[in-house]
Amino acid sequence: AGAATPQPPRQYKLAPQSELRVEVLPDAPLRVRLVTGTAEIFGTELPPEGWVPVPPRSKIAIFTWHGATVELDGVSESEYSSDETPMVIYVNTHAILDARRARARAAAAQGGDMEASQGPRVIVVGPTDSGKSTLCKMLLSWAAKLGWKPTYVDLDIGQGSITIPGCISATPIEKPIDIVDGIPLEMPLVYFYGHSSPSINADVYKVLMKELAKTLEKQFSGNAESRAAGMVINTMGWVEGLGYELLLNAIETFKANVVLVLGQEKLWKMLKDAVQSKSNIDVVKLHKSEGVVLRNTKYRQKTRSFRIREYFYGIANDLAPHSNIVNFSHVSVYKIGGGHQAPRSALPIGAEPVADPTRLVAVNISTDMIHTVLAISYAKEPDEIISSNIAGFIHVTDVDIQRKKLTYIAPCPGDLPSRLLIASSLTWYEA
Ligand code: ADP
Repeated sequence: AGAATPQPPRQYKLAPQSELRVEVLPDAPLRVRLVTGTAEIFGTELPPEGWVPVPPRSKIAIFTWHGATVELDGVSESEYSSDETPMVIYVNTHAILDARRARARAAAAQGGDMEASQGPRVIVVGPTDSGKSTLCKMLLSWAAKLGWKPTYVDLDIGQGSITIPGCISATPIEKPIDIVDGIPLEMPLVYFYGHSSPSINADVYKVLMKELAKTLEKQFSGNAESRAAGMVINTMGWVEGLGYELLLNAIETFKANVVLVLGQEKLWKMLKDAVQSKSNIDVVKLHKSEGVVLRNTKYRQKTRSFRIREYFYGIANDLAPHSNIVNFSHVSVYKIGGGHQAPRSALPIGAEPVADPTRLVAVNISTDMIHTVLAISYAKEPDEIISSNIAGFIHVTDVDIQRKKLTYIAPCPGDLPSRLLIASSLTWYEA
């Protein structure tokens, strides 16, 4: 750690099918420029001219199919090139998916049924740090480059790539994912689980998956284009026990027809036996890239916290959240499910014991909520909360019990779009 020693700008000449792997520091800016040839970062091409800032803390690979010279400017944590990558296998997988999309589109044009006009629903599974999110990005960007609009579904509540952790969400990808801005956020469909681990209330996690799948199914039935483009589904790295059960559940719920298993022979074998034999789901084993950076629990916790910060302050720290105060009486806070992990504050107002794990409980606003995230529900009535998606999030900065006032920050000024809020165990402490 400490102050980063300056590094002069430097050029790398990359042979065809090799990549430059770079880790960016949290607080030292780094930018990259294409000098000659063509290169891409996780499926998105570098522009032919100009510097591209690489977001802080990111770990990237600049890959070239046909050879390139690239230049780095700024201090990095590490940088090295490698010609051992699984990219050819990945792009071949993309080609197979692309053919299926074309087939689905042709079937739709000929008035084919729902089954025939459905493009690939790909689910990417594997242990943590096997490169799942990265493979999803590549498959999406390559498809978008060809004009498809696949739907990205992120079921990873630990390290959400669409919005803050604790959510499951989906969004259409209409162009290659921007290197700087990431996944587009204009129209994500977000369901709020509120914790970073599914074991806290796996039943709620399952119900939310069902709700998300139901909504997507509805959208697909009225949109042949997104139906043919299909889905790319990212999952959690928890692949044992309950984690495995939830994977099976996700495959079934989203009607996945291609399962890509990264970096674990055993998981591949198990899933193959469990699903391929019974249906026409392809379970494919793929190599993991040696470039995938291992992140320990503490690091993952930190990134979770940064993701929450980013929601309010922007990736480039270029947004200014708005601080607001509401009276307790103006909002109603609920919690989905009566799990035991709830903070003391979240005890139900009604006294009866909670039997239904997906039951909605009203919670009292208390000082325990300070530093936590609350989701704003689109529900009109409390009993619609579990089946409704989320408008956005607020971060509680203060609770004044005496005056019955809650202070929070939100990305936008003005009134809350709804009075129905969902409590969570997601916290973020402003440094
Ligand atoms: P998972 O989703 O399986 O947990 P990720 O796809 O998020 O894994 O990868 C873990 C980290 O490794 C991410 O920061 C990602 O950007 C980085 N990464 C993935 N592939 C490469 C690569 N080829 N070179 C350098 N970094 C990589």
